Amino acid sequence: MCGIVGYIGNREAYPIILKGLQRLEYRGYDSAGVALYDGKSIQLCKTKGKVGDLKKKCETSIDTTGSLGIGHTRWATHGVPNDVNSHPHFSNSGDLVIIHNGIIENYESIKKELLNRGYHFKSDTDTEVLVNLIEEIKINEDVKLGKAVQIALNQTVGAYAIAVFDKKKPNEIVVARLGSPLAIGVGEDEFFIASDASPFIEYTTNAIYLEDGEMAVVRRGKDVKIFNIKNDKWVNPYIQTLQLNLEQIEKGGYDHFMLKEIYEQPQAIRDTFRGRLREMEGLIKMAGVDDNIYRFLNARRIVIVACGTSWHAGLVAEYIFEDYLRIPVEVEYASEFRYRNPVIFKDDIVIAISQSGETADTMAAMKLAKEQGAFVFGVCNVVGSSISRLADAGAYTHAGPEIGVASTKAFTTQITVLTLIALKLAKEKGKISTSEFHRLLQELQQVPTKVEKMLESNKHVKQVAEVYKFATNCLYLGRGYNFPVALEGALKLKEISYIHAEGYPAAEMKHGPIALIDEQMPVIVIATRKGHYEKVVSNIQEIKSRKGKIIGIVTEGDETVKKLADHVIEVPETTDSLSPLLTTIPLQLLSYHIAVMLGKNVDQPRNLAKSVTVE
Ligand code: GLU
Repeated sequence: MCGIVGYIGNREAYPIILKGLQRLEYRGYDSAGVALYDGKSIQLCKTKGKVGDLKKKCETSIDTTGSLGIGHTRWATHGVPNDVNSHPHFSNSGDLVIIHNGIIENYESIKKELLNRGYHFKSDTDTEVLVNLIEEIKINEDVKLGKAVQIALNQTVGAYAIAVFDKKKPNEIVVARLGSPLAIGVGEDEFFIASDASPFIEYTTNAIYLEDGEMAVVRRGKDVKIFNIKNDKWVNPYIQTLQLNLEQIEKGGYDHFMLKEIYEQPQAIRDTFRGRLREMEGLIKMAGVDDNIYRFLNARRIVIVACGTSWHAGLVAEYIFEDYLRIPVEVEYASEFRYRNPVIFKDDIVIAISQSGETADTMAAMKLAKEQGAFVFGVCNVVGSSISRLADAGAYTHAGPEIGVASTKAFTTQITVLTLIALKLAKEKGKISTSEFHRLLQELQQVPTKVEKMLESNKHVKQVAEVYKFATNCLYLGRGYNFPVALEGALKLKEISYIHAEGYPAAEMKHGPIALIDEQMPVIVIATRKGHYEKVVSNIQEIKSRKGKIIGIVTEGDETVKKLADHVIEVPETTDSLSPLLTTIPLQLLSYHIAVMLGKNVDQPRNLAKSVTVE
């Protein structure tokens, strides 16, 4: 998530940092800030909004001189996007300044401890807690900044890339990473720090990429000393020569944001689990649900309102909630719900799903539900968004910024959040046994690794795409949990390749769509072993009898469908209810490759907007 830039050398830091932040804008963010140090006083300037807003603010409100500086674009996870929550953050003494990407999961307990010791906090961020923990350790244990950072990080749980400096040490910046990227550009007598190389590529092509669990002390005009955060051992710096152009770097080496985001899914799902899925303790912790557990456990019904891909995630959730929780669920298009005079009960839970948290129809549906007294729960990706503020409670998907218009990682992380809620409630309500709950937690925990494995089939999916790129129509079929995946697969293809596609429940095919099948028609059938496998195999036979071209999405090692289908794409085995998290991936890749082969604008398809703020 978001961006970090730093500079220490002999030039003015401000222009380098500002330009660097602009280069990192592609990562998506809601606020920006800088801290500059000329060896005498630290100048801080930060604001909600864009880097352009920051520039205006800095140039009218601070002295921008100084050859040490750090800058940040924030994508809020703790605390709404506003000026105060923006980074950098000072420690209480005003000596330490920090920027941070990521999440400190155990910040609450640390904050409590620090409050007891007399610390105060201006912002709601986990980051301000971290900088004060570093300060407390530095003072208490009388250690240098680097050591204090190391001790502090060993007390934290979570993910981070940080840069911190000390007013008393004008010649060094300490950086560290775990789970968020961090690169150090090595120039002559100067160093650059950044989330990726794009902010410093024009100054130097020599870069050190910190590995997870490493920290570095960067000293002006001297050197970079790298340590392992856990065992304090020195690490030999490996300086790479970069051969990338700017454009490539911004997309992390991927050709399109969509592909980058497809590949980010294992991490995005892990980030969504973070702090919630506690396999060792055998529980799921979600503040928005825990704080309202009475309402959840006594709900008469769950009504899900959403649009587009989020609506498909809602459909998957319907199966999961009904399966495990045994209460009725309705999934509604928000745009229909708001205008059709729906029956809403006071003991309904209305779950609104939206990546951006700004979808106009979903917001209107929420307002309607609230007026009728229902409890409204938001599931969105953007912290502080309108939906997150309008909801009575909610849970964020920690997918990180999604830039490609066709949603990918937002979909899988929405399903992840909804699955966590369903399993948690089913357990609390005694609808599933403790052993089944534990089994499911274990399965869930393995999903990101299985998604990684799934992504290894990219080359094969591309070959399949090559065969069908000129199709004019496509049919996607699935049953049970994989029916919504069929809908989502068809939507992805329509959105970015402009090929007409339809998703159907496999058995429903006989009631109409089967008339479309001939030797020209590719039919993508999701036929995983744990689903209604035999039934789907019969559906495949029916397509084959009509000469349709079959692309089977099957469980690893499947032989039956392989014999019938023209192509198969294998997915790792998992519980049926979790299979959408895996079966979705090849469908995303298939649409992506077809669209690229057809020369379409994958990241910005015609007529579509990322966040639909009009009805
Ligand atoms: N958790 C921090 C915050 O909410 C950092 C977020 C980020 O990665 O920008 O301020």
